[in-house]
Amino acid sequence: MKINGLKKITTDVLIIGGGTAGCYAALTIREQSDAKIIIAEKANIKRSGCLAAGVNAINAYIVEGRKPEDYVDYAKKDADDIVREDLLLTMSERLNEVTAKMEKLGLVILKDENGKYVARGNRNIKINGENIKPILASAVEALEGVSVINRLNITDYIVKDGRILGAVGFNIDDGYAYEIRAKKVLCATGGAAGLYKPNNPGFSRHKMWYPPFNTGAGYAMGINAGAEMTTFEMRFIALRCKDTIAPTGTIAQGVGAKQVNSKGEVYEDKYGLTTSQRVYGTVRENIEGRGPCYLRTEGISSEQDESFEDVLSSLESSRITIENERREIEQYKQEIASLKSEMESKQEKLNEQRDRIIRQANEEAHAVLREAKEYADQTMKMFHKFQKDHVDLSAVEKERQNLRKHMNKAEKGMTQKTAAKKPKKELTAKDISLGDAVKVLSMNLKGTVSSRPDNKGFLFVQMGIIRSKVHISDLELIDEAEITTPTMQRTGAGKIRMSKAAHVSTEINLLGKTVDEAVAELDKYLDDAYIAHLKSVRIVHGKGTGALRKGVHNYLKRQKHVESFRLGEFGEGDAGVTIVEFKK
Ligand SMILES: Cc1cc2nc3c(=O)[nH]c(=O)nc-3n(C[C@H](O)[C@H](O)[C@H](O)COP(=O)(O)OP(=O)(O)OC[C@H]3O[C@@H](n4cnc5c(N)ncnc54)[C@H](O)[C@@H]3O)c2cc1C
Repeated sequence: MKINGLKKITTDVLIIGGGTAGCYAALTIREQSDAKIIIAEKANIKRSGCLAAGVNAINAYIVEGRKPEDYVDYAKKDADDIVREDLLLTMSERLNEVTAKMEKLGLVILKDENGKYVARGNRNIKINGENIKPILASAVEALEGVSVINRLNITDYIVKDGRILGAVGFNIDDGYAYEIRAKKVLCATGGAAGLYKPNNPGFSRHKMWYPPFNTGAGYAMGINAGAEMTTFEMRFIALRCKDTIAPTGTIAQGVGAKQVNSKGEVYEDKYGLTTSQRVYGTVRENIEGRGPCYLRTEGISSEQDESFEDVLSSLESSRITIENERREIEQYKQEIASLKSEMESKQEKLNEQRDRIIRQANEEAHAVLREAKEYADQTMKMFHKFQKDHVDLSAVEKERQNLRKHMNKAEKGMTQKTAAKKPKKELTAKDISLGDAVKVLSMNLKGTVSSRPDNKGFLFVQMGIIRSKVHISDLELIDEAEITTPTMQRTGAGKIRMSKAAHVSTEINLLGKTVDEAVAELDKYLDDAYIAHLKSVRIVHGKGTGALRKGVHNYLKRQKHVESFRLGEFGEGDAGVTIVEFKK
């Protein structure tokens, strides 16, 4: 790779590795200080490291009735006592707090009918964790003073007099070498995959459970810098089932399938039942020629068999459900698109109709005027004739009165056609704002202001499905917060129909919602607002950690009907609100 040059950066804290630990560290530091933070990540923090594909449980949680010490005991036993109990205890005491924070950020944790987390064994709770990493990444990106540099592979520390002063690396996106100096450096590069021969042979050698990109760079950098490496006494390599790459424990979970060698002997009791003993036993059996070893599932009861099958079939049924929902969404989208074009053509027709009515009224008014003018011309000719013929004055007066009568009649006709009602108070541009409820006097219709007046005083008003350009002098402010407009409603059969009078507000309040809930609500609201031809709307998301705002902005970026969006200005709600402009 060609290096384009060197970039030198200084910061307060450098976090190497934007995986689970790296992202969470940034959130924790920000809670406690306003130090400038840089996260250097070799991939992209959105989907990097162990959490990239998502996880389905939180494997270290102190469930009801258990205490942190129980977790320490379990881990100690499982690792044959080769653990740092002090570190384990500190970690165990904070597990539930971290889970609560993740839930606040938007992680869906499964709950029973009493609102309690659904436990899986003594230390696990179930989650919908497909998006756990994007959730974490969004929360980090929304933090002030945190810069993420993706695709930056850190290769070594900068060391002076036994102190770490920063790190160096290279970025495969911009081709630059980086020298980052920091007051504190945190290494969160995960574990080390690929140190040993892969579990899978031949063409599936690359398939591994642990992310292959966690190469142990953090270990190597520490060792090179002369750091004392602690808790490296034990290395855990889990047994995997061939082809599925899942841990044997997960597959056998709850069904008690035994580990058996090629002679059909159950060997696990011979070596012991802790994780490390199970792993050691299998390796030993293979070395002593009694491999391959497998999980014996024949002996399990029919209920266990069902629950085992359930694990597999629930995966398949989830896939089918997701696929069906995707198809349903696609269908709704098509229905919405066709309704939208139907409404657009209806509005076009209404506009044409309105223009025709105005044109006809003008033509009639002109006809009346023309007739009056012709009559006046004739009368004038007669005056001249009377003068020439010396006719008496009473005949002239009679013709003058006839002319007056005719002119009055014409004037009355014109007044009926063209005179508009005057507003109670004449409005100026300063008096009206977007979304104000108004009455258009010439049409006798109510609506909402959907654009600012131009320099000639013309503006757009939304009246139900009609959006009309009117003059400000034709408007009167009225006291109604919402307009009445047709919108979408789903029927029980899943069809979409028009409701005559549903309300679309110019504002949506998402405070207190998770990102997922907020986006679902926003999605429907924006569709309704767009179909109702609102020109702009206001989204209230609050300031908070910024995760909700970030989630809303990410969603808005993907919406085709959104022209632009911006944070509110002083007086509009500042960064706690976002103003969205729709495409015309
Ligand atoms: C497939 C799988 C399923 C799992 N399922 C569960 C589960 O259901 N429940 C559970 O609780 N746990 C589960 N775990 C374990 C859990 O996900 C991990 O223990 C945890 O996420 C590890 O976090 P970490 O920050 O140490 O490492 P990671 O999240 O992997 O972060 C390390 C980061 O460092 C980056 N990096 C590495 N080297 C460099 C470098 N030189 N320069 C810059 N960046 C670098 C990597 O790209 C990565 O983003 C699972 C793990 C895997 C692999």
